[in-house]
Amino acid sequence: MSTLHIRGDRRTLITGVGTLGLGALLVPALSACGGDDGGIGGADAAAQTPDVPDLHGLETAEDIWDALLDGNQRWADGKPVHPHTDAEWRTSLAEGQEPVAAVFSCVDSRVGPELVFDTGVGDLMVTRTAGNVFDPLVSESVSYGPAALEASLLVVLGHQKCGAVTAAHEALLAAEEGTELEEHDYALPETVEALRPAYEAAKGESGDPVDAMIKANVLLTIQALKEHPNLAELVADGELTVVGGVYSLETGLITEIS
Ligand SMILES: [Zn+2]
Repeated sequence: MSTLHIRGDRRTLITGVGTLGLGALLVPALSACGGDDGGIGGADAAAQTPDVPDLHGLETAEDIWDALLDGNQRWADGKPVHPHTDAEWRTSLAEGQEPVAAVFSCVDSRVGPELVFDTGVGDLMVTRTAGNVFDPLVSESVSYGPAALEASLLVVLGHQKCGAVTAAHEALLAAEEGTELEEHDYALPETVEALRPAYEAAKGESGDPVDAMIKANVLLTIQALKEHPNLAELVADGELTVVGGVYSLETGLITEIS
């Protein structure tokens, strides 16, 4: 096991064999993704629409989550303000980044986190996979924001009518029932397998089985992230809050789940 000290020893990123059976992890140096020395912008660069708080001025993960949900409400209402998208802000980020939250979501083209939370560049560190499925390689990207850049909030975001989860549900159900599935080819085999735990966990839940599987997938992913070797200590120390939500394609709103 080895350790990588970051941010002047304020945090130690533990690497090695973890709960997911990871081999030695090597997190790239901060310089690869933007350093932390220069900070980001200044008061002028951070200026935004007056009634929209600057995410970077918020103290706690709870405040950041509340602000993101407020941004989601603006998005759902069709009144996004698109903060942090001006040239001055953009150039202020050239020397470094300090995303306030990490978001792990689906690749679906309708669920872009920066848009549905009404945020801009430098605000969120986003990782996306089909069905927001998780594996050791992806885990390094998801954990990078909290572990290396001190993002205090990690959001796992599933969404309504997720094609990957729907396809996995069909494939796993067909396999279980021993039936042929005409459209099986479109179900990404690795993704289907990664979603098997959510399929099993959703059994017996009331309501639509795909909705239940989407929710189960978010909850299982939250648990896996909380136990991840890069994040477990941060969670235990209260330095990282992990939350989950499901985005509605119909309303544009995110419902927090736990
Ligand atoms: Zn999806």
